[in-house]
Amino acid sequence: MIQPKPIPWQSDAWTRALAEAITDPRELLERLELDDVDVDFAPDFPLRVPVSFVERMRMRDPNDPLLRQVLPLSAERNVAPGYSADPLGEASATLAPGVIQKYRGRVLLIAAPACAVHCRYCFRRTFPYADHQQAVAFPSLASVERDAGISEVILSGGDPLMLKDVPLRRLVTRLDAIPHLRRIRIHTRLPVVIPQRVTAELIQLLRDTRTTASIVLHVNHPNEVAGPFVDALAELHRAGITLLNQSVLLAGVNDHVDVLDELSQRLFDNHVLPYYLHLADPVIGTHHFDVPESIGASLIAALRARLPGYLVPRLVREVAGGDAKQIVALT
Ligand code: SF4
Repeated sequence: MIQPKPIPWQSDAWTRALAEAITDPRELLERLELDDVDVDFAPDFPLRVPVSFVERMRMRDPNDPLLRQVLPLSAERNVAPGYSADPLGEASATLAPGVIQKYRGRVLLIAAPACAVHCRYCFRRTFPYADHQQAVAFPSLASVERDAGISEVILSGGDPLMLKDVPLRRLVTRLDAIPHLRRIRIHTRLPVVIPQRVTAELIQLLRDTRTTASIVLHVNHPNEVAGPFVDALAELHRAGITLLNQSVLLAGVNDHVDVLDELSQRLFDNHVLPYYLHLADPVIGTHHFDVPESIGASLIAALRARLPGYLVPRLVREVAGGDAKQIVALT
């Protein structure tokens, strides 16, 4: 018998998966048959990880690269000089509640104040979302309408795909009506951790926008590119959506040339172009993920010796107040 085509998924599949995400470190450790890990059981930035992502982790391995990205460790409480709550100076780049302009010609819209997964290294882990709730209520969009020099809106968050399809369509329709906007870019990790977020409605609204839509995913390790996420990527590709990826260089996760090599190849096998490899931002609680710039540069040099240029991401650092991301010079 021919099985029904599983995707795109119905909208209740992802909201159910979101509601079932693991939020108790004990439950996560139990599921992975782990004990004796130096976990922070009451972190300020709580654990949140969907089951689909956990299913891609190795059992009984406290150093699993996917687990390291989500498990709160006691090391997060270490104080390190030069680490702050807002290392990218986003507070001073705010045009209106929910609208941040760091670079010429494009703005970030804080479209949703939450994420499906809590990445331990996140530079917005202490972001004051309560001050930015106006963005999808539209008054803030006046700042975009007024400036004809803005040609691109980046939907960010949190994770913008935490918006359900109906309000997301309303927002995109509103953006479509701003004549000088040419592109809408969606920065999201949601399809990675809950692939069912790629619903028929989402695909249709990306097809319907009069702007050019692209999705910038956030994948750090090749083991993430597996299971239903691969099906979701195929569906987005079939819909003609440009797919890019940005990763963060993280100690103990992807700071090895073999891992970065396989990540680039696996992404491209699934229609995603590796775009940026970010040096981690110095945000409080993330010092244990730091990889020195010189190591990052030598990793990229080693990748260049192995892969064609289009599979080598640009190694970048973001500096508060800079007029663009800084490309790190290779050694
Ligand atoms: S999905 Fe992105 S914004 Fe959300 S916690 Fe992870 S890195 Fe931060």
